[in-house]
Amino acid sequence: MISSNEADRIIADSTEALGTESCPFEQAAGRVLRETVEADRDLPPCNSVRMDGIAIACKAWEEGARDFPVEGVQYAGEPPRTLADPQGCIEVMTGADLPTGCDCVVPYEYLTVREGRARVKEDFAVKPGLNIHYRGSDYRQGATLIEPGQRLRSGEIAVAASCGRTSLMVSVKPRIGLVSTGNELVGIDEPVAAHQVRRSNVPALRAALLNMGLGEPACHHFADDEQTITEGLGSMLEQSDLVILSGGVSAGKSDHVPGILKKLGVKQYFRGVRQRPGKPLYYGKKEGGAAVFGLPGNPLSTLVCFHRYVIPVLEKMSGLANPTEPMVFLGETFIFEPACTFFLPVVVEFGEDCLATAYPRPPHNSGDYARIVETTGFIELPGEDLSEFPQGFATRYYPWI
Ligand code: AMP
Ligand code: MG
Repeated sequence: MISSNEADRIIADSTEALGTESCPFEQAAGRVLRETVEADRDLPPCNSVRMDGIAIACKAWEEGARDFPVEGVQYAGEPPRTLADPQGCIEVMTGADLPTGCDCVVPYEYLTVREGRARVKEDFAVKPGLNIHYRGSDYRQGATLIEPGQRLRSGEIAVAASCGRTSLMVSVKPRIGLVSTGNELVGIDEPVAAHQVRRSNVPALRAALLNMGLGEPACHHFADDEQTITEGLGSMLEQSDLVILSGGVSAGKSDHVPGILKKLGVKQYFRGVRQRPGKPLYYGKKEGGAAVFGLPGNPLSTLVCFHRYVIPVLEKMSGLANPTEPMVFLGETFIFEPACTFFLPVVVEFGEDCLATAYPRPPHNSGDYARIVETTGFIELPGEDLSEFPQGFATRYYPWI
């Protein structure tokens, strides 16, 4: 059995970013950018007025002018006017192009406009460039605005729109297959006997994928029958970049999954990780093809392993440059045995000190998955050499998706 850190390394070393495709701008939200977005023109593209008021020439102020004849109004969206009289002024609106001949904007708070003249208060601190956002002062045309590997959130979309990008190169979405196995499992709309369990793992993983914006996965359920699983998995492996199985990877008599995967040409990279929950975790890959996770079927194990191991694969496949890795502080001392990595469900709260603090909510027993909904996520306690984690211990947090 390997450690969770070794599992991370094996998974990372065997995962590459998928290819790219051109995406229409309207559909690009949430996708991962795979090209550089450059400024198509200077930013700002003109000498942009920052306050409503009047535009003047500082020289006139220095020569003693306080009372400026108004030559007209410069609205946003109009080409720049020219100040005819160097001692005059033009009323300007926020976002307007600065009139030629002016180098200072006096906001309305500092003046009164009456009968075609603007009178500026004596205490106005005049300065060349005041309230003007000069052309190219933020970015020059051709400057890199967004690097590849960024998720297109609202800010990136705003920047891409401002650069006139009607399409963007993004990562293709991984083709994902979800499979549950188990004779004890019935569909949620079927009659259920006391010895049966309703299938919840595939719906949970599907929900996570949809919440991540990855689209509809192919979903299947197979009975614990070698032939059925072999036939079903064979075609899924051909049609997927990632196959996520739940159940059938432990050491029981009906746990056929690893053996079947081997027969189907999937190379096992590891089976078994020193962790709780999720010890029987399986990971493999078909040569030049799909990556395969076999998640233990216990619903908490399935969800923990998905968040802890599968999401990083999805992020790497999508070419995401800097995935977020939130850290939290443990809210109370926590002790556990035996030596392994422990994934502890928690409630994370932000205290008055603004620190994210994780309060342990350990499951009452290994089958107690309904408690998931009381928690906000889980933390990782690296317990290979440590069994007591003091209050204030800083550690990685995985919020439920
Ligand atoms: P397994 O890993 O196949 O031994 O499954 C362990 C236990 O997890 C089973 O006995 C079920 O109670 C539960 N389980 C397995 N698969 C699912 C599923 N798809 N939905 C809900 N519970 C499951
Ligand atoms: Mg099973």
